[in-house]
Amino acid sequence: MPAAKGGSRGQIVPIGNLGDRKSDYWKIAPHYSSGFEAFVPIQNGCDKFCTFCAVPYTRGREVSRSSAEILAEVEQLVDAGYRSITLLGQNVNSYGLDRNGGEISFAELLTRIGEFGERSGRRFWVYFTSPHPRDMTEEVLEVIARHDCLAKQIHLPIQSGDDKVLIKMNRNYRVDHYRKVVANIRRLLPNATLFTDIIVGFSGETEEQFEATRAAMREFRYNMAYIATYSPRPGAASSRWDDDVAHEEKKRRYHELSAELQTTSIEHNRKLIGRRVTVLVQGRDRKEGHLTGKTEGLLIVRFPSTDGSLIGRFVEVEITSCAPLSLSGRLLPVGQRQAVGAL
Ligand code: SF4
Repeated sequence: MPAAKGGSRGQIVPIGNLGDRKSDYWKIAPHYSSGFEAFVPIQNGCDKFCTFCAVPYTRGREVSRSSAEILAEVEQLVDAGYRSITLLGQNVNSYGLDRNGGEISFAELLTRIGEFGERSGRRFWVYFTSPHPRDMTEEVLEVIARHDCLAKQIHLPIQSGDDKVLIKMNRNYRVDHYRKVVANIRRLLPNATLFTDIIVGFSGETEEQFEATRAAMREFRYNMAYIATYSPRPGAASSRWDDDVAHEEKKRRYHELSAELQTTSIEHNRKLIGRRVTVLVQGRDRKEGHLTGKTEGLLIVRFPSTDGSLIGRFVEVEITSCAPLSLSGRLLPVGQRQAVGAL
């Protein structure tokens, strides 16, 4: 996916802005705006050439950052007390492939982070975004299963549930391949939450093709989906094609998929009522007298508390009620620390 996220590390500047001095990209001094949550770039650019995306043209081809630098930055962050670290890249799970054997694989990078997590004795969660379904190997999922610090949350962009649309998008997988990856996730990481990205109203998308995407949403039962209405990106291949799905129709498809997401999400969330979960407290909630945070699976949890000292810390919360995309609960006293597995 296009990595629009600059995160809380130093600004991610398009390669072009650096006068094509790609090696300088990694030398931008990190600046972390949060004291407990950080974003660590591991790769820049993309070789996938999805037709709706301009990243391969604006940021250039895939370039992996040195694993030694990544590991040093992660270790430094953990030693400084960071509790949530997200590895960033346009196509993170093809990490290292551009180095022709001169760099470790993504699975090995995760393994080394996982082993460091065990040595450190600290509690922290490591995420990555975004992976490409074509490169989501069983080996990567097995590594995540093996190490506590590797968060049990997978973001797997599907974009469309129709093979012809996927071909037109040049996504390089079919729904059946995606289905096998999801089956591997469910088998190897049974408690993992599953997120996705979807585009509705892509050039030429028929009603039948939209219905295939709706069917995919029902089948894969996402906890969260970032649904976008298609709009041509300057420089992307699809910008030369007709943007022929009417705006109102795109909005209708967007709202229908949003309703599907709400249905699935609340089904997942209802199962958590009465259970205890670990929450990393993010800040004060909009609701007066409440704090908000996220579980390891990035589910939003709010609970009554005015204790600002909990922000940036792990707490245990018993879930008491839920809405489609969030959970509510009550803070458990320190000592009641027996949370269920990842969620
Ligand atoms: S994988 Fe596709 S959508 Fe993601 S950055 Fe690459 S070209 Fe863009």
